[in-house]
Amino acid sequence: MIGLGLLPLVVYLLVRDPLTLDDHMTDKLNNDVLKLERSYYAFLMDEQDRKCPICGHEVKSRYRFCPACGNELRTVCPACGELMEPNWKSCPHCGHKIDQVEGKGELV
Ligand SMILES: [Zn+2]
Ligand SMILES: [Zn+2]
Repeated sequence: MIGLGLLPLVVYLLVRDPLTLDDHMTDKLNNDVLKLERSYYAFLMDEQDRKCPICGHEVKSRYRFCPACGNELRTVCPACGELMEPNWKSCPHCGHKIDQVEGKGELV
């Protein structure tokens, strides 16, 4: 009898729990995305030495190409000739809009 009395509560918990879990998962995912974005922007702003994503050779942030493997680390603005990240959509130096033909460097 007591068990039957608890049944609605159990059903409620069973129905409710997945939703709660989903909320937690969503929050966690959002946090992860935020963290990823933060580290990504920190990476963009980073003026310290960093590593070539292809070969791991240490490269200066102002380098356009990796000196070890020739991998293109930066592109050059066609309007003003300043160095840019390959995935930037507009030049921070002159505001020139870049047409993204290829999805190179895109974060998915
Ligand atoms: Zn390299
Ligand atoms: Zn420019």
